[in-house]
Amino acid sequence: MNTLLSSGLPGTLQSSNPELELSIVVPIYNEVESLPHLVNTIANTLVGQYRYEIICVDDGSRDGSVELLKDMAQSRSDLRAVLLRRNYGQTAAMAAGFRYAKGRVIITLDGDLQNDPVDIPRLLAKLDEGYDLVSGWRKERQDAALTRLLPSKIANWVIGRVTGVQLHDYGCSLKAYRSELVADMNLYGELHRFLPALAFIEGARIAELPVLHHARRFGHSKYGLGRTFRVLMDLLTIYFMKTFLTRPMHVFGLFGLASTALGTVLGLYLTFLKFGLGQSIGDRPLLILTGVLILAGVQLFSFGLLAELSIRTYHESQGRPIYRVREVVESGVAESNESD
Ligand code: UDP
Ligand code: MG
Repeated sequence: MNTLLSSGLPGTLQSSNPELELSIVVPIYNEVESLPHLVNTIANTLVGQYRYEIICVDDGSRDGSVELLKDMAQSRSDLRAVLLRRNYGQTAAMAAGFRYAKGRVIITLDGDLQNDPVDIPRLLAKLDEGYDLVSGWRKERQDAALTRLLPSKIANWVIGRVTGVQLHDYGCSLKAYRSELVADMNLYGELHRFLPALAFIEGARIAELPVLHHARRFGHSKYGLGRTFRVLMDLLTIYFMKTFLTRPMHVFGLFGLASTALGTVLGLYLTFLKFGLGQSIGDRPLLILTGVLILAGVQLFSFGLLAELSIRTYHESQGRPIYRVREVVESGVAESNESD
């Protein structure tokens, strides 16, 4: 059909099922009214064009979504239901979906019909231009202005500045990923909105595409203003990972040394005042500053060393190399490769 979907991308997911092109991953939390429409629209858009599977991950719904999902998954071959034991949150639900997805390309979207499956072929076309991740941009977003759009605008701006990935809309669930990219990323907290940033850390090529967005037809949003706080905390984590992930000592060591050096210079100055000029230095705030600078410097330095140790454990325990290979080229044969 197109080069991306027919090319031999490697990875465990593909070898387990060489047939499957697309996995559509949808987190579901109390969306019983939307479910039938959702699955039908996705299927109608894709059937006959792609080999696809729909993976609905139930995130501990209590409104009958579970029973409906079970029924639907038993009666249709293109739907798999992954039922979580309790409500873990959207990110965990998506991570579970990724775990079961077998397609070479993974598409995520919301289960409330706010994203439109009609956009999927356009996302795929964009991915095929040579990107690893294509993120939807809800250009005309249909949500409450004050509680949703404004915080999201601010959050998008901050996230862009902090992560260095320039997107208009990080919160849009409608995204397309190459499966090997997803396999490289670990999800925690509310991190799903930072997938582009995580992907960027993993060296991915990222594009953005305006997509449709509809107002919620059934049920109600699971989020309010409280999410802004959690997103900001996760942003700190991302910033930390981006800055320190491979060489924490470069950062902590630098500040540690600078602090110790400044403290030492001040200490020498005070020593000169005391023994050279015979002045009393016992009541000088500078003396306290000197002590704090030297102590803080030593602490930062040791923290950097400890961080180096744990980062090694982090990479080695998971067999995660500190680099990502996009491709290995040998005697005219180009082969995409993951890492080793
Ligand atoms: N969701 C989930 N677990 C949760 C909260 C939400 O799986 O704890 C799902 C929800 O069913 C929907 C998607 O995540 O499919 C987005 O949620 P929602 O529409 O409430 O977010 P909004 O569009 O208002 O940002
Ligand atoms: Mg929604």
